[in-house]
Amino acid sequence: MFDIRSLAKIGTAKRFFTDEIFFNEGDPGHELFILLKGKVAVLLNSIDGSQFKVAELGPGAFFGEMSLLEGMPRSATILALEESIVIAVDQNNFVELISHQPELIFRIMKGMSSRLRQLNEEVAGLKTGDDEESSDSEIIAGDIAQADIIPEAAKKQYTLTASKGDEKFTFDKDTVCPVCDKTFMTKMVRSSKLRLKGHNPDLRQLFIDFDPIWYMVYVCPHCHYANFNYEFKQVSAEIKGMILKEKDNLKKQFNISFSESRRLNEVLNSFYLVLHILYLAKKPDQARIAKVWLRLSWLYEDADDQEMYRLSTEKALEAFKETYFNSRRNTSPEQEQRLALLLGELSMRIDQLDDAAKFFRNAILRKGGNATINRQAEDRIQELKTLITANELASE
Ligand SMILES: [Zn+2]
Repeated sequence: MFDIRSLAKIGTAKRFFTDEIFFNEGDPGHELFILLKGKVAVLLNSIDGSQFKVAELGPGAFFGEMSLLEGMPRSATILALEESIVIAVDQNNFVELISHQPELIFRIMKGMSSRLRQLNEEVAGLKTGDDEESSDSEIIAGDIAQADIIPEAAKKQYTLTASKGDEKFTFDKDTVCPVCDKTFMTKMVRSSKLRLKGHNPDLRQLFIDFDPIWYMVYVCPHCHYANFNYEFKQVSAEIKGMILKEKDNLKKQFNISFSESRRLNEVLNSFYLVLHILYLAKKPDQARIAKVWLRLSWLYEDADDQEMYRLSTEKALEAFKETYFNSRRNTSPEQEQRLALLLGELSMRIDQLDDAAKFFRNAILRKGGNATINRQAEDRIQELKTLITANELASE
């Protein structure tokens, strides 16, 4: 074990409460954390941006070493599952730390190599690969007029509100805006309370009694920057500059506030603000745009609005296709498979059945692929065939 007293002298002790996030995947960071007390979850983002747990760590564990040693962005999200106390060690006191406790370096190296292996073997295929700032996309969508982003049909009013029981699953917390540096109160999800019910074929995660989508977007009330909670701190210098320049316009156009019991229109509006901000970039990030539309399609599905459900599915499909065909990023075969499966699913939803069949076939990889995904894709092809036959019978 560690010599806690000397650790505390070298690093900084920090306390995190249940459901507090230490850092999010992709955040910049320069500290290593050593867990003295409590329990944390290690979460990764899947291709659609939802999170899944890959590990739980207890006292004596450490995390964040990649950022400390290599200055890399955080490779996972760390969430406190119970009240936890850590020692934070930065680059300056790391050297001092290992000179006092040289055996620590072996533990860190051992931990790093086993964690890397685990990541590669088990979850690399699920992990999203779109956090690189510059995708090689040939298609420049920056010329899409802002007015086109939000379809006319999206201006409908809905009566749906968040469920009263949501209070159990959320809590208020101060957040610092990475654009204007001001603090604001935001509703966060108690991830420790979420119980997974299952997955839809389009990767939507369903939870018992609660839907975290309603709380996914954080909006800064000062500068109107909005983004998904899991990447809220990840804002490029370009976007930051644009928001500071545009903030009066953003306020006028979106004017977002959330009622105590959130209304669907408020939530939809916050998603459209995220989209609007993504389109402020010269080369909008299609992978992120796709994720916003995909979630919008789920919200419209819940609101039983078929027209908007279809339209947002088409938009999600279009943007996912661009990431699939036009980006030359380092994706694992499994990631490609998942994306192909999702493309098939979305094509199927809007009756592009030939495309759907093509994507499902692409999702099947005999070599280097994941057997479960192969099976899933084969199942979807069978279902598709049934659907095509039914359509043909209906048209006769
Ligand atoms: Zn702000």
